[in-house]
Amino acid sequence: MASGNAIRGSRVGAGPMGEAERGESAPRNRISFWCANKHETRPSFAAEAAIPETWDCPRCGFPAGQDEHNPPAPARNEPYKTHLAYVRERRTDADGEAILAEALAKLRGEI
Ligand SMILES: [Zn+2]
Repeated sequence: MASGNAIRGSRVGAGPMGEAERGESAPRNRISFWCANKHETRPSFAAEAAIPETWDCPRCGFPAGQDEHNPPAPARNEPYKTHLAYVRERRTDADGEAILAEALAKLRGEI
């Protein structure tokens, strides 16, 4: 066995497995964020990490902020229309009501 190489790079006081360098005991800050749906999420950040202004809510995807009573407004950019929006454009309200009435009648077993 070569002597010397095995211990090169280890620091005095770091321990045989280098525990002191793995950061397990690094202080972490838990920051609460609230979204517009009042979901609270508490990600933890390394003490030296910059805390973001907003955090995506893991439950609904809305942006969440640190002020519980004034959460950021959800993004309102809707680049595409839903299928229902297209259907509504193609049909008049009267048509829609007739279709709805027919559907309800079928549900009730009247047709
Ligand atoms: Zn949410």
